[in-house]
Amino acid sequence: MDETSFTAVPKSGKVYLVGAGPGDPGLITLRGKYLLEHAEVLIYDYLVSKKLLRYVPAKAELIYAGKRGGFQHTHTQEEINQLLIDYARRGKMVVRLKGGDPFIFGRGGEEAETLHDAGIAFEVVPGVTSATAAATYAGIPITHRAYTASVSFLTGHEDPGKESSNIDWASLAAAGGTLVVYMGIKNLPVITENLLRHGRAGSTPVAVVRWASTPEQRTVVGTLADICDKVREAGIKPPALIVVGEVVRLREKIDWFEERPLFGKRIVVTRTREQASELVAQLEEAGAECLEHPTIHVGPLESYDFLDEELERIREYHWIVFTSLNGIRYFFERLFKKGMDARDLKGPSIAVVGKSTADLLRQYGLRADLVPKEFTAEGLAEALLDIGVGGRNILIVRAKEGRAILPETLRGAGAQVMVAPVYQNTPPPGTREAIIADLEAGRIDAITFTSSSTAQNFFDLLGVANHEELAKLLQGVCIAAIGPITGKTVTDHGLTVDVQPEQYTIEALVAALVTHCADAD
Ligand code: SAH
Repeated sequence: MDETSFTAVPKSGKVYLVGAGPGDPGLITLRGKYLLEHAEVLIYDYLVSKKLLRYVPAKAELIYAGKRGGFQHTHTQEEINQLLIDYARRGKMVVRLKGGDPFIFGRGGEEAETLHDAGIAFEVVPGVTSATAAATYAGIPITHRAYTASVSFLTGHEDPGKESSNIDWASLAAAGGTLVVYMGIKNLPVITENLLRHGRAGSTPVAVVRWASTPEQRTVVGTLADICDKVREAGIKPPALIVVGEVVRLREKIDWFEERPLFGKRIVVTRTREQASELVAQLEEAGAECLEHPTIHVGPLESYDFLDEELERIREYHWIVFTSLNGIRYFFERLFKKGMDARDLKGPSIAVVGKSTADLLRQYGLRADLVPKEFTAEGLAEALLDIGVGGRNILIVRAKEGRAILPETLRGAGAQVMVAPVYQNTPPPGTREAIIADLEAGRIDAITFTSSSTAQNFFDLLGVANHEELAKLLQGVCIAAIGPITGKTVTDHGLTVDVQPEQYTIEALVAALVTHCADAD
């Protein structure tokens, strides 16, 4: 595909009205994302996924336009219009990011008119509107050859009882097609009553979908006759959409989103922020909502004098051993800084702890000579001992806080071992309160630990007085550990490991969690 088809260069002094899609940040268009990446000013609404903000350059100005009462400062439509004009006149590239599609019940039309009247250049980028997303994510095709050939989108915001209603309930009811109502939760009783009064059968199926396409999606299904009671009982509040029509019956077969194995599960991911993405991506793929609580923050050391000295004499080593991804990253960063590169590592053999470290090493142009069968420090030690390390010079590259087991085992077997720390783990501020609040409110279904140190750091971070208190706090929470060493750190704290895969990989961890949740349900 020709890239320029969605990446026409954005202009300064111009406003882009961009549809953000319904909730899942993955549902924005390529053009929309491209414009976010070039925004100088971003004005965004309540319904826009906050995850989209990560595409906006750090130096851009972010303005929350709100549109929802409460403690946050919100702007009136007039103020928003004025902001768009003012920033554009100052020569800024302005993105006006709106939930769903800007021109569907989004006041995008009014904003475009205002810009036209003020002589400001603008463009409009459509978005996936919440009506199609809500139906699709609830497993309801809004049209279907066997059921209906028409669909209408309407607002439930206006009082359907008022004399001057823009909505012709009589013909809508008579036409019999699918109806999707935006902003209709408050008026649901009036809406159903109007449709019944104008001849739609009480048995007509209705679905109400809240927070569509997000991990918090909830769907309530009923009929025109009983949906009001069901919605009240379920406590469904806005934002939600109402889908009326025979097509709702197809949800029984097509409900793909809420049927995903980890849908509705809230899982704490305790990897470092830098490494969380792969685990999070896989958990989300299985339908889970991830609460990313980094318990450790990986950072550089104050001084690299020690590593520098070892690098000077690197050819004297028989083995370089990498026990983590970060070890590799920080090692090479320093190597390059010194004006060296992979060619300077000719000589020593290289051992890594597992498959991911081997893959990363390859990206630096080097093949691992040794990858243990078991991806742990113990497994690595054993594999090295099998080869024979007596009298060999070994450099272990790792975190400042690493375990003693590997160097000790190798020394015990007669090797000369140097440990070169290349990075350190420090706890991030502010996460403790957030985790405890979530745990106490019962909002957490599972916690994942992908290393002994993340588990240890997590328990340190919670800072609970004793094992009984800890067990109480984590009662009912499924604990998943990537391997036996990590698992031992969990059991050392008086807890039980509920999930532990046979292979120590992220993929296997997620698969084991899926199996566990399926068995538990
Ligand atoms: N321009 C938006 C609609 C804005 S009106 C669009 O095209 O989707 C706001 C209404 O949209 C809400 O009251 C609700 O009815 C609906 N809505 C928006 N996002 C939603 C979501 N994720 N789930 C359910 N309804 C949603």
